[in-house]
Amino acid sequence: MAIKTFTQPACPFCGIEGNIIHHSLKDRLFGVPGRWAVRRCVDPACDLAWLDPMPLEAEVVKLYKNYYTHKKTTPFKKPHLMHSMGRLSLKMGYSIIKRMFSLKEKRRRLKYMFLEPGRDGKKLLEVGCGNGARLRAFKDKGWQVTGQELDPQAATYAKTEFDVNVLLGDLIDIGLEGEQFDAIVMNHVIEHICEPVGMLAECNRILKPGGKVVITTPNIESYGHAVFGENWRGLEPPRHLHLFSKQSAVPLMHKSGFRQYKIWTSAARAASMAHGSIDLSLFGSHTMGERPRQMVFLREIIFQYKALQNWSQHQNSGEELIIKAEKTPWQ
Ligand SMILES: [Zn+2]
Repeated sequence: MAIKTFTQPACPFCGIEGNIIHHSLKDRLFGVPGRWAVRRCVDPACDLAWLDPMPLEAEVVKLYKNYYTHKKTTPFKKPHLMHSMGRLSLKMGYSIIKRMFSLKEKRRRLKYMFLEPGRDGKKLLEVGCGNGARLRAFKDKGWQVTGQELDPQAATYAKTEFDVNVLLGDLIDIGLEGEQFDAIVMNHVIEHICEPVGMLAECNRILKPGGKVVITTPNIESYGHAVFGENWRGLEPPRHLHLFSKQSAVPLMHKSGFRQYKIWTSAARAASMAHGSIDLSLFGSHTMGERPRQMVFLREIIFQYKALQNWSQHQNSGEELIIKAEKTPWQ
């Protein structure tokens, strides 16, 4: 079932033609048909990267037909004793790296999207909340939570499994009342959206003055993209429609009406990005949610270490981009 698309040679942000940085990419995660290029704006002040051709908005639902949120994960097979011992020693090595770089704390902060615990009935919205696990974690930290999700199966799961309130449908179509949320979070969602500026402008509208929006997304300027090239997991054609850097996050926020924001990168979860990238490099495919083979696990750990080392020299090179913005009271 072919996906209907339109060509997008010009930058969706500034209209300048983009250079093709990857061509003839295939969906090696969920088998959506088609060949896809990634273009990057030639204006360094803009720097947006995007998919060309671009799926029509009405076709986007087809990109998620076989998506991982629709499948139950199969339990891990019990490995052979020698394998268990090998894995155990890898885990011990990994725990040394984790301690060296305070990874546990850094990952905890990422999980909670750099927000403090909620109190006094503070309201949080998670856009694209998926199965609801993160929303539940925020609820347990005292936030009054609401989720938004396009996928009915994921939304039902969130309600039944995690007992969280989820609104089903497109955020803009739902038409929430303005100025009601203290925080809005989006974890690896913005890159999937056809009109990211429109989506963030809507977030701005429904935030209270002084409210915060926190976004995480793959960083196209990352060490991993440089190392893995077209096998970099962060590309995920054709579901990642726009890819951002520290530079292109600026026009994104500005066009959406935000004037106060901080943008930085993190390498703390580089290992999870590496798992997919290594699988794609070595085997040409990757199954989400599957435990890495031992040899892949070793390479993941090495990559995590190198990515952290690299980040300490080049702080724009983290695998993930983090944007934290505040709605200024006069807006
Ligand atoms: Zn541009």
